[in-house]
Formats: sequence, structure tokens, C-alpha cells
Amino acid sequence: ALLVVGDVVTDVVARHAEPLAPDTDTAARIALRPGGAGANVACWAARCGARVRLLARVGADSADWHRAALRAAGVDPVLRVDPELPTTVVIALVDAAAERTLVTDSGASLRLGPADWTEDLLDGAGHVHLSGYLFFSAPGRELAAVVAKAARARGLPVSVDPASAGFIRRLGVPRFLDAVAGTDLLLPNEAEAALLSGRAEPARAAAELSARCGAEVMVTLGAGGALAAAHGRLTARAPAVPASAVDTTGAGDAFTGGLLAARLSGADLPSALAAGCRAGAAAVTVVGGRPPS
Ligand code: ADP
Repeated sequence: ALLVVGDVVTDVVARHAEPLAPDTDTAARIALRPGGAGANVACWAARCGARVRLLARVGADSADWHRAALRAAGVDPVLRVDPELPTTVVIALVDAAAERTLVTDSGASLRLGPADWTEDLLDGAGHVHLSGYLFFSAPGRELAAVVAKAARARGLPVSVDPASAGFIRRLGVPRFLDAVAGTDLLLPNEAEAALLSGRAEPARAAAELSARCGAEVMVTLGAGGALAAAHGRLTARAPAVPASAVDTTGAGDAFTGGLLAARLSGADLPSALAAGCRAGAAAVTVVGGRPPS
């Protein structure tokens, strides 16, 4: 099984045709959706056939709703309910050109920490995935270190999906790389790989990063597919699966879920990359970051 440690958030998606302006009530279609990169990865991995457990922290305001959504997606949710804070909310303002502006609250997910951990969460696990958002709070970084150590003691591989180039910049590249040292598999997108390696060209970025961190590195390239590197060398490439994209939210999370599900079932590297690309393509054909029900 796969253990995902990460974030559950409530996405408020407001689609508006008119530009936003002060002192104006802009009409929008507003929808509340269950989201969070960690939770989305968990749901896509379950969709792709893996048994998945998710450890996350939510607020009492929406714990039942999130638990039900995760169960419906086939994920075993271990949700710690924060006694004070509501579930983290992310507001996505999407304009007529599908340009997206994200506004992020803090909230319960930033308090996920070592106190939420128990060793038995690893029982039955064959792989541990840490969502990149964990690394942007002090308790999250502590938890990541505790989980990685426990996983290593059991001989389980650990993967990290860096959250976003913006977050990495805020934390600082050296600090991020230090926090993920010892990870077996890093899954950045093109922008994150460039930032982390200092190389713009994706194949060189992947190779450089794999040499520097000693991790296997897989870089997603949007409609360009994905590539893999290890020990400073390119090891595989996969083309994207053609898809008519309506919303690219969560493509990277779906790729990660599909890839990890394939690896858990024993797929070789090219097949696992291809499985990630199939899930990524499926994700861009639906609105939102979760698999369609
Ligand atoms: P992120 O969402 O993390 O930025 P990417 O945009 O690189 O990630 O997308 C992740 C994966 O999803 C890609 O490797 C690819 O397989 C798939 N994908 C993304 N965009 C498209 C697209 N327009 N058509 C087909 N597949 C896509």
C-alpha cells in the first residue's frame, strides 16, 4: 500500500467572465471542492489501483465532508481534527482566459506535525509519499523528517513532490534541498526542476538534480510528457498522452498518483512513467484536481 502524508484543503473556485474591479460585485460561478496536493495524489493513486492511506490535518468545520470525499475516492483517510483552526482554504479566481490567481489561507494543514504521527501508519505500506507543502511549515518539516526516518528503518522508499516554485523560492533552494536530503524519488515539474538545479533545460536539470541529491528524479513537462534521471544521467522519457485540456489543475498530482501506483504494482521505469502520463492526461480533461467520480 501507499502512505501519503500531506495536505487536505477546501478549494473555493470562482470562475468569473468579467475582470475583477474594486467596488464592483463581479458575478462568478463559485464552487467548493475538496482538494489539497497530498489528498489529490492519494485519490489518483487509488483511482490507478493502489491501496492508499492518507495522513492529514483538517478543521472540525469540514472534517466529515473531507473524510467522505476521500472514502468515496477509495482512500483510507486518517484525518487529525485541529481543535482550533478550520481546514485550510485556497481560493482560485479563474478568469475568462482560464488564467488562475490563487489566494491561500493558513489553517489546520500547516499544523500537521510530529504529534500526528504514529508508527502503525506504516503497517502494510510499500512506499511513502510526502507532499511538498509539508516542507513549508516548521511542524511539517519535523514530521517529514520523522516519517522519512521511520520509512527508512523499514526499508521503504520515500518520494517528495515539491509543492511549487513560488514556495521553494520563499523557503530558499538550499533549505529545501537540505530538508529533502535522503529522499529516494523527487517529482518536480519543469519550473521546480529548473529552480532546484539552476539549469533551464529539463533533461540537464533532471540529471544535475539527481546527481546533487542522490535521488531518482522525474520531471513533468506538461504537454511535453515526462522524463527520468538517476545518478546524473537521463534514464527514460515518456511522451504526453494526447488530451483536450479543459483545466490543468492537478495534472502533476495525477501524474504522481499514477506513477506511484504503477511502481507499487512492480512496473518497470518506462511503464511507470507512461502510467503517470496517462493519469496526468486524464486529469486535464476534467475540472478540478481530483479524479472524476
Ligand atoms: P504540474 O501540474 O505539476 O505543473 P505538469 O503540467 O507538468 O505538472 O503535468 C503533469 C503531467 O500531466 C505531464 O507530465 C503530462 O503527462 C500530463 N499533462 C499535463 N498537461 C497535459 C496536456 N495538455 N495534455 C496531455 N497531458 C498533459
